[in-house]
Amino acid sequence: MTNFIHPFSFGDREQSDLLGGKGANLAEMVKIGLPVPPGFTITTEACRAFLADGKIPETLPVQLENALKNLERELNKEFDNPSKPLLVSVRSGAKFSMPGMMETVLNVGMTPQVAEAMGKQSGNPKFAWDCYRRFVDMYGRIVCGVPSEEFQKITTRVLSQFDASLVTDLDIDGLKALTEGFIKETEAVTGEHFPSDPREHLAKSVEAVFHSWNSERAQLYRQRERIPSDLGTAVNVQSMVFGNLDDQSGTGVAFTRNPATGEIGSYGDYLVSAQGEDVVAGIRNTMSLADLAIELPRIHAELEDAMVKLEAHYRDLCDIEFTVEKGKLWILQTRVGKRTAEAAFRIAVQLVDEEKISIDEALVRVTGDQLVHLMFPQFDLRGHVNEIARGIPASPGAAVGEVVFDSKKAYEVSKNGRKVILVRRETSPEDLAGMVASQGILTSRGGKTSHAAVVARGMGKTAVCGTESITVDQSGGFFTVGGRSVYAGEVISIDGSTGAVYLGEIPVVASPVTTYLEGLLDSKSEEASAVVKAVDRLLTHADSIRRLQVRANADTPEDAIKARILGGQGVGLCRTEHMFLGPRRSYVERLVLAENVDVQRGVIAEMEFLQRADFVGIMMAMSGLPVTIRLLDPPLHEFLPPLAELTAQIARSEALHEEIPARDFAVFAAVQRMHESNPMLGLRGVRLGILIPELYKMQVRALVHALLEVRKLGHDPRPEVMIPLVATQRELLYLRESLEEEIGLTFKGTGQLEKIPIGTMIETPRAAITAERLGIYADFFSFGTNDLTQLTWAFSRDDVESSFLPRYLDLELLPFNPFESLDQAGVGILVKNATDQARSLRSDFKLGVCGEHGGDPTSIHFFDKIGLDYVSCSPFRVPVARLESGRAVALKMVKEISSL
Ligand code: PEP
Ligand code: MG
Repeated sequence: MTNFIHPFSFGDREQSDLLGGKGANLAEMVKIGLPVPPGFTITTEACRAFLADGKIPETLPVQLENALKNLERELNKEFDNPSKPLLVSVRSGAKFSMPGMMETVLNVGMTPQVAEAMGKQSGNPKFAWDCYRRFVDMYGRIVCGVPSEEFQKITTRVLSQFDASLVTDLDIDGLKALTEGFIKETEAVTGEHFPSDPREHLAKSVEAVFHSWNSERAQLYRQRERIPSDLGTAVNVQSMVFGNLDDQSGTGVAFTRNPATGEIGSYGDYLVSAQGEDVVAGIRNTMSLADLAIELPRIHAELEDAMVKLEAHYRDLCDIEFTVEKGKLWILQTRVGKRTAEAAFRIAVQLVDEEKISIDEALVRVTGDQLVHLMFPQFDLRGHVNEIARGIPASPGAAVGEVVFDSKKAYEVSKNGRKVILVRRETSPEDLAGMVASQGILTSRGGKTSHAAVVARGMGKTAVCGTESITVDQSGGFFTVGGRSVYAGEVISIDGSTGAVYLGEIPVVASPVTTYLEGLLDSKSEEASAVVKAVDRLLTHADSIRRLQVRANADTPEDAIKARILGGQGVGLCRTEHMFLGPRRSYVERLVLAENVDVQRGVIAEMEFLQRADFVGIMMAMSGLPVTIRLLDPPLHEFLPPLAELTAQIARSEALHEEIPARDFAVFAAVQRMHESNPMLGLRGVRLGILIPELYKMQVRALVHALLEVRKLGHDPRPEVMIPLVATQRELLYLRESLEEEIGLTFKGTGQLEKIPIGTMIETPRAAITAERLGIYADFFSFGTNDLTQLTWAFSRDDVESSFLPRYLDLELLPFNPFESLDQAGVGILVKNATDQARSLRSDFKLGVCGEHGGDPTSIHFFDKIGLDYVSCSPFRVPVARLESGRAVALKMVKEISSL
C-alpha cells in the first residue's frame, strides 16, 4: 500500500518532490528543533493519483484517520471533543512555491460546541466565535464554492446591522449572526445542510486543496512561471496555534535579510491579535520587527534566534511565517526566500564573507537573467511616485511615454518624435508596427508567453503584461484602474523588470552596473554601490573558472569596441551583409544590373574599398583577438526593392501614362527574375557565393588588404573567414579552393604570404549530420543555431514569433521559444552529433556557436557540457555569457562537492 501521509517528523528539505516545498521545510525545521506546531503532510503523489482518477485514492481516508489519531495522541487533544478540541489548518504546498494560487482552510475542527467550550476555557469567547466564523467563511467559499461576493454582501449587511465598520469590531452576537448568514448562504448554494462533522470538514478540505491545483489562476500561474502542470500539490495538515487569542498573541512574516535590497539584518512585519492572512491583507497597520523588540523583547529574541538558526542551516536568506500564542513563539513555515536581482547578488557575496558558502556556491546563487535586470536603465524612485498598477514583468527595461491604444496611432505619434506606450488588452501580429514605434507595451491580459511578451523580448522592448487591475477601453480611448481613468495622451511609466506601472513621468537613470561594466565606474571606488561590488566579485570569479570563451556578434567597429569593453574575447560573427544594407544598398543593385563584366568589376571595386575600411575598424578594435568574418549570407532580393512595391509603382506609372525610366524597368525585371517563393530556402549563403564568385572573392581581398593595413598600424589582426549555409562537402571544398587562391594572389607581392583560417557555419541539418566530412575542409565550425533551429523545425523565425508561437506556448505545445533557448532534445542533438564528429576527426577541432542561443543562459550550460570552445552573442549579452559560462563550471564543482 502506498504511504500517502507522513508526519512532520519524517523527511527533510530534499524531499520537496514528494512533500512539496512547504512540507519538506516543515520536516526540516522539526529536524533542527524549531518550535513547529505538529502535523502531517499528504504527499503530492496522493494529489497526482486524485488528479489522474478524479477521486481520492482508496486508501487515503484510512491513512488520514490514522494520521489524525496519532496527532490527537501526540497533543492530547481530540477532534470534536469540546473539552480538549483539536483544530488544524489545511494548506496547499507544491514543489515550487505558487504564492496565493491554491487554497488554505484554517480552523478545521471548529463547531459551535467547540467554540462555546473554547470561549470558556480561554476566557475569550469572542476569539472562539471569531475562529468559528473564519472557518465557516473559508469552508463555504473554498470547499462549497460560494462566491466571495455573496459572503461580502452578508458581511456588509451584518456590519450595518451591528453598527460596526470592521468584522473585528463585531461582538459575539454579531459574529454569530455573520456566521449564521454564511451557513445559510452555503446551504442555499449546495442545497444541503452545512456538515457538522469535523472529520468530514477535514476530508473535504483536503479534496478542495487537491482541486485547487487546477484552478484557473493556478493554471495561469504555472503557465507564466513554466511550472509543469503534472506535479500536483501536497497538503499540510497542521495543528492550529492562535495569534488572535489575546494581546500576547499575534502573527507575522519575517525575512532573515532584506529581500528587496539585500541589506543585512532581519526584516518583517507583526500584527498583534491576528490570524492567518491578516498581515498580508493590510487591513490593520503592522509593526516592524524593531517595534516588536520593544513590545515583546523575549519573543523578538527567540525569533531572531530561530532566524539565525535557519540561515545557518539553509545557508541562505529564509522567509518565515510565525505566530505568537499567549507569549509562545511558533514557526509555521519557512522557505528560501524570493529576492530581487540586486538582493541576490548582494546576499550571495555577504554569505561568502560570513563563511557560510563558498564563492562557487555564491556564483551558482545568481543568474544571468538577474544580471540582465541590473543592466537595464532604471527608474529613479527617490522622488514622489504614483504606482497605479502592477502586472507581470514580461520584458525588462524602464519606459516612459504617452498612452496610445492603437498601433497606427502609436506609429503616427512616434513619427512626430513623441514617445508612446502602447496599451492594449492583448496584442496580435497586426500590432507589430505599433510595438516597434513604442517605448514599451502594457497589456491587461496574458502572461510571460503572450504575444506581447514574446515579441517585446525579441525586440528588446520593455513590456508589462497581464496587468489585471486595469481595464482597457480601447474605443473609448482610456483605461481604468482603481476607480481612476487614464486617457490617451497622458504620460505613464512602466517598469518591465518589476511590472510596476506609474502615472506620470519617472526619471530614468543609467544602471550603475552597466556603467561599471562599460569601464566607467571602478568597482573599488567609493561611488561603487554594494551591488556593483557584488557583481564585480562574482563576474571576476566566473571569468577565473570558466572554460568557454565569450565572443561577440559585431558588424561595426563601434559594436566591436563595446563588446571588448564588456569582456568579449573576439568577434564570433561579423555579418558582412549588414555592411551593404541601408544607404549602401545601391551597390548591390548596381551589381545585379551591371550590363557587362567591366561594369560589374567597377562596382565590385567600389564595394571592396568600403568593405576594407569596415574590416580595418573591427580588427583594430579587436587587436590580438580573433575576428570571424562571415561572407555574405542573405538572399540577393533583400538588397533590392520589394517586388510588390515595384509592381504597384510600375502599374501606377503606366495607368497615368508616365514615362518609366529604363533603369526602373531593369530593376523590376531583375527583381522579377530573382523572385523566390521561399527565399530563406533559396539563393542565399554559400549558394550566392558560388553563383556570383566575384562577391566572395572581393570580400577576402578586402580582408587581406585590411589585415595588412591594420598590421602596418602596429596592431595584431587575427581574422578568420566563415562560409554560411553550407550543406555539402563539395560546396565547401569548391569555395575553399577558390578563396585560398584569391587570398594567395592578394598576398602575393606583399612579402607576407600567410594562411587565414577558413571555417564553415553549421546551420543546415545536413551539415550537422555530415560534419565529419565537412570537417576535413574546415579549420573551424561555428554553429548557426538560428538557421539550424529554423531549418530543423521548418518554421521561420521571422514569422512565427508574431503568429502562432505565443499560442503554442500558451497551450504548452512548446515549453519555450526555441529561438530564445536551444531546443536541446532536437536541435541540440544535431549540435552534439556534429561536435562529436568534428572532435573524432581532430581532438582540438575549434568549435563555437554564434546563433542567438550563444547569449542564453540555459543554452550556454548545454554548450559548455558538450565541450564547445566559445559562444558568441550580442555585445550587450557578453557579461551574461561570461557569468553563465562561469556558473556552468561552478555548478559542476558544487555538485561534485555535495556528492562526496
Ligand atoms: C544563425 O543562423 O544562427 C546565424 C548566426 O546566422 P544568421 O542569424 O545571420 O542567419
Ligand atoms: Mg544563419
